[in-house]
Amino acid sequence: MTITYELGKSLYVNMTNRCSNACTFCIRRDEPTVNGVDDLWLEKEPTKEEVLEDILKRDLSQYKELVFCGYGEPSYRLDEICEIAKDVKKRYPIPTRLNTNGHGNLIFKKDMTPYLKDAIDVVSISLNAKDKQEYDTLCRPVFEDAYEALLDFARLAGRYTKVVLTIVDILPEEDQEACRRISNSVGADLRIRSYIDVE
Ligand code: SF4
Repeated sequence: MTITYELGKSLYVNMTNRCSNACTFCIRRDEPTVNGVDDLWLEKEPTKEEVLEDILKRDLSQYKELVFCGYGEPSYRLDEICEIAKDVKKRYPIPTRLNTNGHGNLIFKKDMTPYLKDAIDVVSISLNAKDKQEYDTLCRPVFEDAYEALLDFARLAGRYTKVVLTIVDILPEEDQEACRRISNSVGADLRIRSYIDVE
């Protein structure tokens, strides 16, 4: 199974296969690989120690950042991610990013954003849509209030780290503008990703 893998100049960490969404566009439905990286379906989730060991056996000076993602939603393990990130940073000052759907506070049923402090430098949250109705249709979340909660997560996370909301460039221009206003309203930047950009 693959715990860490390289994409571009970044080192990615595959924490979990669990997810609180079932996005209509999710590559996990058809693809066992991401940009040629396979074995992303985990036989079992690696322990915190196994993840740390896998990261530290790399030469971290080779990477521009360490990205916690999943082949799933990493914030199921947000507490452990923040501990791992702090441990890594003690050894090498690598920038860290969390790629998330922003459901962390719903998953843990409490405000998890204080954990991000001194651990995660950038939180990248998939906004995906300009309103709840479109989000629910596209992402099919298990939580009733996922859209509102991800915006709240973004707002709260901004107290501790940089927050970027992301959408893909196939959204109509007026929707992109609406998403920009929403992002600004929670103190976050908006990044418009290429549809084929896996970062
Ligand atoms: S949040 Fe990510 S991993 Fe989860 S279903 Fe959507 S695209 Fe797939």
